[in-house]
This record gives sequence, C-alpha cells and structure tokens, in this order.
Amino acid sequence: MSRTLFTNIAIFDGTGSALFDGEVLVEGNRIVKVAKGQGQIEKTGVEVVDGGGATLMPGLVESHGHLQFGSSVDRIERNRDFSSEKLQMVAIHAARVLMDYGMTSCFSGGARNTPAEIALKAEIENGWLPGPRLKACSFEMIAGEQAHEPGQPRRRNYRGIENRGPEDSKCREFVKEMADLGVDSVKFLISGESANTPGASRQVQFYESEIQAAADEARKHNIKLVAHCHAAESVKIACRAGFDVLYHCTWADEEGMDMIVAQKDRVFVGPAPGINWANMYEAAEFGVTRESAEKREQFLTFDLVSKRMPELLARGVRVVPGGDYGFPMNPNGRNMRDLDIFVSQWGFDPKIALKSATQWGGELMDMADELGLVKEGYLADLIMLDGDPVKNIKIVQDKDKILMVMKDGKYHKAPNVAASREHRIAAE
Ligand SMILES: [Zn+2]
Repeated sequence: MSRTLFTNIAIFDGTGSALFDGEVLVEGNRIVKVAKGQGQIEKTGVEVVDGGGATLMPGLVESHGHLQFGSSVDRIERNRDFSSEKLQMVAIHAARVLMDYGMTSCFSGGARNTPAEIALKAEIENGWLPGPRLKACSFEMIAGEQAHEPGQPRRRNYRGIENRGPEDSKCREFVKEMADLGVDSVKFLISGESANTPGASRQVQFYESEIQAAADEARKHNIKLVAHCHAAESVKIACRAGFDVLYHCTWADEEGMDMIVAQKDRVFVGPAPGINWANMYEAAEFGVTRESAEKREQFLTFDLVSKRMPELLARGVRVVPGGDYGFPMNPNGRNMRDLDIFVSQWGFDPKIALKSATQWGGELMDMADELGLVKEGYLADLIMLDGDPVKNIKIVQDKDKILMVMKDGKYHKAPNVAASREHRIAAE
C-alpha cells in the first residue's frame, strides 16, 4: 500500500477553521493521520512530499455540474447541436478538465443524455477515464415548448402547462424511467429560465400535483430531487415536495425563504451566479450584448440572488458553488469562480466559501462521513495550492496555482512543489 506524507504545508481542513501548519499522512486511498506542526509523523517507509509552505485542502466539489454542455476553458464549442457520440466525447473531456482544476467531485445538475452520463460515471469509477466522483442526474424535465432543442430528441418536451391537466402520470413515469436507468437524482425545471425565454424565470411550469407525484416516486427509488426554481412559487412547490437541492431561488419571497430555512438540515441551495456574471460581462464575443443580457433578466437575477444568498447563509442554509458552467461564455474549468463571487460580491467569509466547496460538498455527495474534510479516516481527495486561498480566493481557479490533485489516494496531477518553493524563496 502506498504511503505518502505531506509535510511543510498549511492545512485548510474544510470545516471553515483557519489554516494551520501541519502534516498529513495518506495510506492507500485514505487520510490516516493529520498532525499540527512539523516533524510529528514518522518519515520512515513513506514517500515524503515537502509542500514548501503550500496549502493542502480537500478536493473541490462542483454542486451543479453539466459535463455534457459542451464547452471547457480549453475547448469552446459555440454550436451545441451535437450528435450523441460527440456529446459523450465533450463530456469525457470536461470530466478531465474538472479534475485539472481541482474538482474531485461533481454533483450533476442535469444531463442532456442520461445513459451517457451514467456510462461515464462507471468509466470514472472503474478508473478507465479521469474524472471527478460523479452523481449522475436525469434529463432536465421541462414542461412546455421551450424544451425543444433541434437534434436532441432525448430531451423531454411535454405539453405546456396551460394545455395540460393536473394529471401526474407523466412526471411519475419519468422518474421511474430515470431510476431504472440508474440515476442518483432527477431534475425538474419547476420554473422557466429567462436566459432562454425572457420572463420565463418568473413562471411556474408544473402543477404541484405533478411535482408531488414525482417526489413520491423518487423517494421510492431513493434518488435525490433537484429543482431549477427561480420563481417564488416554484421554490415553495419544491420545498413542499421535499426537494433536496434548490438551484437559483431568485424570486424566493419571505415565506419561501422561511420554508428553505426550516429544511436547512436537508436542503442545499445553489445560486449558480457564474452564468449571470458571464452573460452580464463576458459574453459579448458570443453574441450576448448588454441589452440582451438585460432583456434576459441577467442583471435582475444577479441582483436578487445577491440579496437572498447572504441571508440564507446567515440563517444556516448551505449555499453551495458551481452551476451552469459548460456554455461557451461560462466554460467548465472556471466553476470555482463562484467562490470569488461569494466573497467579493456577497461578503461571505472566504473560509466559509471554501467550506461550501468542501465539507458541504461532501454532504451534498451524500458522503459526509468520508468526503470533504482533511480528517483521519476520510478519503484522500486532496489538492495543493501555491498560496493561501483564504487571502486570495481566486487561486482555486488558477491551474498554475493548483500544484497537485489527488483523488482516492491517486495523483491526477503529481505534486509540483518546486514551483511553490521558488515562490516562497522569492517572497522571503
Ligand atoms: Zn443548470
């Protein structure tokens, strides 16, 4: 069994506590010892990695991943009309990119091709392809005409809510079908999306009875319930149905906020601000002008979540990063930019922002007792950073500052500590 001792490192353990000087021993795929100070752990028979003062922390968790959306930082795909075959290729690529950027776990926020996502998950689990621990999601269940994407027959396209009765059978069938495929979660777009259809975020797309039936079916199969919910009523429908993950929550009103808080021990909230930010400031070259970003309510959406999220955090709700990366203006790899938004725009303590990507991520992955912390007995999903992410939260987005990525005790990126040491010497 391989034994590796990380020494001369500052440890961020994932709990939100301050960094401390220490050592970590990894045996096989587990962390077996964490010590404060140096020279505490026996060096014989172990491979020693001298971190040169670098930060060691848990691998990051993307809470709303879309591996199949197509674009990564080093691969921008403007046209998303992929064949199924190409879609799987871009997903394989995106999985590797997430690992390159220190994301060793990914809770999927929806697939465009569910069997492909489940197959990729198995490839990664078996060690045949590089990628994060993956929780696979269903197709994104949409009601109404906006669901139609030419060339994407697998995406569901049910009748618009205005033309449909409150019968619940289709949603229940959908959940059953997805469960049979082997998903870990099912996703419903309970509200629409203004970025696609101006104004749609404020509209509810499902009857509550349909969502209740879907939730009932999901619980039978022990799979998680994930909601895209911007509209005030959509948040409440998700809460009443016992959804586990609520994305956006843009128009959540007082009652909705109270409902989220009342369920804070189960629920996670993922605001996904990165896509709004990209649409507002970085999407001109992809044809999204300021005028069109305004029309698609990107400024308004960002303003509203900027008010809701600090409140939810203060009231004890786990607000988690990531989401809707994979578009050409918001590519995969950049996902942890959300942490910078949490800190610089919303005033989160950087240690709490980092906790949201680590400890809370482990809880979201349903692995709270073994993932997301630098702690004895936990899985050795670790990254090493050149610098202190509490002082500069941006370094978690910088591939050059990510000196090492380890998942399950194996290096995805072997330690490059020489770079860190040079840096330190230069700074001294
Ligand atoms: Zn999404």
